[in-house]
Amino acid sequence: SGPREPRYRVVLLGDPGVGKTSLVNLFAGVQERELLEQHGEAAYERTLTVDGEETTLLVLDIWEPEQRGEESRRRSRCLQVGNAYVIVYSITDRGSFESASELRIQLRRARQAEDIPIILVGNKTDLVRCREVSVEEGRACAAVFDCKFIETSAALQHNVAELFEGVVRQIRLRRGGK
Ligand code: GDP
Repeated sequence: SGPREPRYRVVLLGDPGVGKTSLVNLFAGVQERELLEQHGEAAYERTLTVDGEETTLLVLDIWEPEQRGEESRRRSRCLQVGNAYVIVYSITDRGSFESASELRIQLRRARQAEDIPIILVGNKTDLVRCREVSVEEGRACAAVFDCKFIETSAALQHNVAELFEGVVRQIRLRRGGK
């Protein structure tokens, strides 16, 4: 009997090329994709039914690589607007894994007192022979930084639905009650 199901903003973070846009495109779906242009930013909204309950996620694919000073206001805004964060690295790129840790630290600094859901995602698991970051390292990193962990392949559409369902569950855990 709720008036309207709640809507949560989920922000994707991570180095360029790790697969953020590919993941969000799968989330949005080819048919029902809804691209909202907000100041040139990409946002995708979808209502998911998880454990019999509906939750609407607005997924923001707006993170940009660091550029000489000028971009920092936009980046710090990204760290402020999310109700939940998905930090993506590529298992084929150790540099992106190190960036993910750095992002987790920045996020903690920006949202100190808050207990925000964060999911660490190792993407591109289909590129088996190019793997530079083991699943154990990913899991250990998530444990150290107190976030959830999942490996995905946007190319094979593996674990992508599970990723966003996991985001919903993490949000609900912090909502209190059920
Ligand atoms: P973004 O810069 O983080 O948004 O990354 P993109 O989604 O644009 O992806 C960068 C490149 O990696 C593109 O060529 C994608 O097709 C490719 N890519 C993304 N996810 C995967 C994946 O799971 N497996 C493989 N093999 N390629 C991927």
